Amino acid sequence: MAKPKPCRSYEFTGDILEHDGEYKKFFRGLTEYLKNKLQRVEMKGSRHNYNQYTCGQLHDKRNLDWKPWQHLWEYCIDLEFDPYAAKDAIEERLGVKLECDCQIINNEVENRRKDLVNVFGADFGEPGRDYDFF
Ligand SMILES: [Zn+2]
Repeated sequence: MAKPKPCRSYEFTGDILEHDGEYKKFFRGLTEYLKNKLQRVEMKGSRHNYNQYTCGQLHDKRNLDWKPWQHLWEYCIDLEFDPYAAKDAIEERLGVKLECDCQIINNEVENRRKDLVNVFGADFGEPGRDYDFF
């Protein structure tokens, strides 16, 4: 067993994730990781069904079972990245503030849906959906 390595600093992680290639690699790995950790929920769209992901917890600070960012945290520790820097980089790229790592993947799904709308001029999902299930 290798002993745990020290976490890279906020600045160091931020510098790495500034690079498009590095960020894409990081983000692709993260979404795969989250898909394995989170619950998949099939949503019925007006024309197509699509999948969303949830940590299964109410996003409320009073909910003691809710552990926001636990998966991002573990993923970053594995990569020796600073989780705070990674979270900031993700929010910056997605252009939204997030409160839980399950929202990372749903934003990614949503962005792909918007891409389809842009390309085909048709909406494949429900407009104005909220990502909070509870
Ligand atoms: Zn969540």
